[in-house]
Amino acid sequence: MTFDHILIRLGEITVKGRNRNRFETEMLKQVQHALRGFPGLTFIRTYGRLYIALGNEPYEPVADRLKDVFGISSFSPVKRVEPELQAIREGALAVMRSFPQRKATFKVKVSRRWKGFPHDTMAMNHLVGAHILRNMPNITVDVRQPDIELHVEIQEQHAYIYCEVVPGAGGFPYGSNGKAVALLSGGIDSPVAIWMAMRKGLEVEAIHFHSYPFTSKEAQDKVVTLAKRLSYYAGKPFKLHLVPFTDIQTSLAQSKQDHLIITLMRRSMLRIAQRIAEKSGALAIVTGDSLGQVASQTLGSMNVIGRTTDLPLLRPLVAMDKLEIIAMAKRIGTYETSILPYEDCCTLFVPKSPSTNPNLRVVERIENGVPNLAGMIAQAVEGTETIELRPDDPAPSDRAGEDDWF
Ligand code: ATP
Ligand code: MG
Repeated sequence: MTFDHILIRLGEITVKGRNRNRFETEMLKQVQHALRGFPGLTFIRTYGRLYIALGNEPYEPVADRLKDVFGISSFSPVKRVEPELQAIREGALAVMRSFPQRKATFKVKVSRRWKGFPHDTMAMNHLVGAHILRNMPNITVDVRQPDIELHVEIQEQHAYIYCEVVPGAGGFPYGSNGKAVALLSGGIDSPVAIWMAMRKGLEVEAIHFHSYPFTSKEAQDKVVTLAKRLSYYAGKPFKLHLVPFTDIQTSLAQSKQDHLIITLMRRSMLRIAQRIAEKSGALAIVTGDSLGQVASQTLGSMNVIGRTTDLPLLRPLVAMDKLEIIAMAKRIGTYETSILPYEDCCTLFVPKSPSTNPNLRVVERIENGVPNLAGMIAQAVEGTETIELRPDDPAPSDRAGEDDWF
């Protein structure tokens, strides 16, 4: 293997000024944790950069895992050599020889971070480039659109040589920007919204409302599978709150206001979410709403629904198109689960013509007419079951003795 190290570039962290040190420490911890399955790796933190010495570990699986760690803007497999002309030339040649193409164009790009290095950048470009041209007859220089960009980064302790820059997930280290609760349905949108919130450094606790026995055990397993997938990105146990919603849903349905039932259910969900947020120390509620997608996601509906909580409502998908959301769901590995045909508590009661512009006064009057709504909301919070998921947990249906969640 030509490359012996991985150079990791930290993304938005660099703009965080005084918090930088804290973010870098957290980042190192999370990278180490994500790669705990590779005991041969060594981690090196220096000059605001993170390096991994591969030791005898294979590059590909390590790279695959790194792509999913939040806070990394990009990384490169690198060859590390002594910061000395001959060693750099030999290293550069070895890197170029590792490419399968026999005919290619290239360009050398030297970055001289150690100002004490005896040759300046221009001279180094030539010294390295000439060595390669001399030794590889099929390789030519193209400074405008080279097939291969050969980077040489010279620091005081070492020089690093690389060609490839692999995009990372971006964002901030998980949990470094505070905590939110998030409404997780079994649909396509909310897992994507939660992933986006997590990527921004929010620690997330998911909340799911179920209407057992109207909704099935399979419907719940599906949500557990989604939460498990999200726990992989969290890199630590991921909480899922399962809220019994049957009583509230049944009582709201008895008000016989079919066109407002979704609005009414969403308002109760948010009230419950707010209570759970307060208990968990979360400062925001994340949802998978996307503007205009369905009746409950018009601006008018969002306004009436959102009035139930003082917490900021974060809607990462608000400006995205469905096709973009689907593409993202596929990329993060939630799509196949989301499209399984199990009913959600809301799909059970979907009216023929839901209101796209509910009236706040009317909605409040209906709620006041529902006997003991506040009591039922408190009971739902009380009856909430919380489970913790880890990516390596057995599938929920295989769990011994844990079949009685409801
Ligand atoms: P999704 O694909 O996330 O279900 P959707 O486009 O189907 O979204 P709705 O069903 O109207 O839209 O739901 C809007 C948002 O409300 C969801 O993204 C989710 O955040 C929340 N939500 C809906 N149903 C539930 C539920 N049973 N439990 C928790 N959250 C829910
Ligand atoms: Mg839905």
